[in-house]
Amino acid sequence: MGEGEPSMADYLISGGTGYVPEDGLTAQQLFATSEGLTYNDFLILPGFIDFTADEVDLTSALTRKITLKTPLISSPMDTVTEAEMAIAMALMGGIGIIHHNCTPEFQANEVRKVKKFEQGFITDPVVLSPTQTVGDVWEAKARHGFSGIPVTQTGRLGSKLEGMVTSRDIDFLGERDHGMRLGEVMTKRNDLVVAPAGITLKEANEILQRSKKGKLPIVNSSDELVAIIARTDLKKNREHPLASKDGRKQLLCGAAIGTREDDKYRLDLLVQASVDLVVLDSSQGNSIYQISMIQYIKHKYPELQVIGGNVVTAAQAKNLIDAGVDALRVGMGCGSICITQEGRCHLPRATQCPLTPPLAPNWEGFWVMACGRPQGTAVYKVAEYARRFGVPVIADGGIRTVGHVVKALALGASTVMMGSLLAATTEAPGEFFFSEGVRLKQYRGMGSLDAMEKSSSSQKRYFSEGDKVKVAQGVSGSIQDKGSIHKFVPYLIAGIQHGCQDIGARSLSVLRSMMYSGELKFEKRTMAAQIEGGVHGLHSYEKRLY
Ligand code: IMP
Repeated sequence: MGEGEPSMADYLISGGTGYVPEDGLTAQQLFATSEGLTYNDFLILPGFIDFTADEVDLTSALTRKITLKTPLISSPMDTVTEAEMAIAMALMGGIGIIHHNCTPEFQANEVRKVKKFEQGFITDPVVLSPTQTVGDVWEAKARHGFSGIPVTQTGRLGSKLEGMVTSRDIDFLGERDHGMRLGEVMTKRNDLVVAPAGITLKEANEILQRSKKGKLPIVNSSDELVAIIARTDLKKNREHPLASKDGRKQLLCGAAIGTREDDKYRLDLLVQASVDLVVLDSSQGNSIYQISMIQYIKHKYPELQVIGGNVVTAAQAKNLIDAGVDALRVGMGCGSICITQEGRCHLPRATQCPLTPPLAPNWEGFWVMACGRPQGTAVYKVAEYARRFGVPVIADGGIRTVGHVVKALALGASTVMMGSLLAATTEAPGEFFFSEGVRLKQYRGMGSLDAMEKSSSSQKRYFSEGDKVKVAQGVSGSIQDKGSIHKFVPYLIAGIQHGCQDIGARSLSVLRSMMYSGELKFEKRTMAAQIEGGVHGLHSYEKRLY
């Protein structure tokens, strides 16, 4: 019998056709080597299926006290998460973390919009005043794509409703009439059908159906406009059984902050806006600053959930767990826009050096930070340590496919945070633009010079107080239009469920226990295996994912 071959004892027959040789590596064996592994460096071996994919339960802990039905988080980046994205993510069962590359007031207001969101009610509609003109309506229509606009005394929400201007009011007016005041052309208040604040969606729906109007203004007892309801939105309204909600049935929302003195003011405003959790946003979270901020928050707001990070080693995690974090964000240098651990630049040579002033016309070969860890190893090592203390781990960055999400969860992460995968969706901040016929939206690293020039908050993530020379740790680019989160996230959810089904895990908690018990088996992937796993041998093909 040769070395490594099974002995007779191994051939013990346990029923059926008998012996099944050991196959694949346990997670412990996979990560026992000294090299770090990325998601692309390994695969998960399939298991046994005795359930349908849509039965797979994706419920998972976000923090010690918050559980999500969908383990997906949108990253606190200014091209990814503001209120619109956070609302969409929460409706789908995930959560959005509002970025802090803005004033504390702006950020708190975005959180408030999420917390106050009521399906179907538009609480920040475009509003005009009676002294504005028909031209302003055309401009609003061009920018926002609709024409039923409420008119209030001051041109703002919260002011007395004076009327409504609809397509019917302006359609027959010519170019010459663009200067006409809305007070003259609008449908006046007395001819409007309105509804009182506090009305339910069902009641509002009935009024809209009866009146056959397109928009229903909602007013308070002083006849001030507080919201509107659009018939087209009502038609689009679907049930959201997975939605992430707090005890008062408001959507869950997170926000990022830094660790400086002035972040304490930001924190207060966010808490006043009813934020559910804060993320301490730092590329290297194992610092005295973060530890003291965690202790400060836990003392002042004991109920507020605090996510610390970023970390990639158990030693880093230990300090933050000791300080009292409720979850850990894991990842350093794996983000799509990240050059933190860059050894050799992968950007085209023509790309401008991100340093100011530029170091060399061709900066290929330049090291930026040299710190970080391949994400597969980082997630496994930190999750394996943090689970002993009941602290969930968020795999942050480097997620390029739904397969990466499944791998991150199979390595012990409870949830996954994404930037590029969710950028360039309809709900991501920023306008679409065209370049060579392709519809794009900007996506940039928060450590890119571009983002840092916008506000000092993003500098805080990447620089220390006294830094004189700023070294960019991210790039700025663009991503092709992905459509709406309301279509994209269901695709991700179905993909994760199919991945779990192939593995034979009915839920994410089963998936994790299979991994820790050694039942879940992995295999390393050579370069050739990676090429074999991709589409190959075709002259051309179209890749449509959903
Ligand atoms: P992505 O999903 O691969 O695009 O990575 C998103 C993650 O990258 C974020 O959640 C951050 O942790 C990280 N990140 C954001 N901006 C930067 C940057 O400028 N440099 C390095 N990492 C960044």
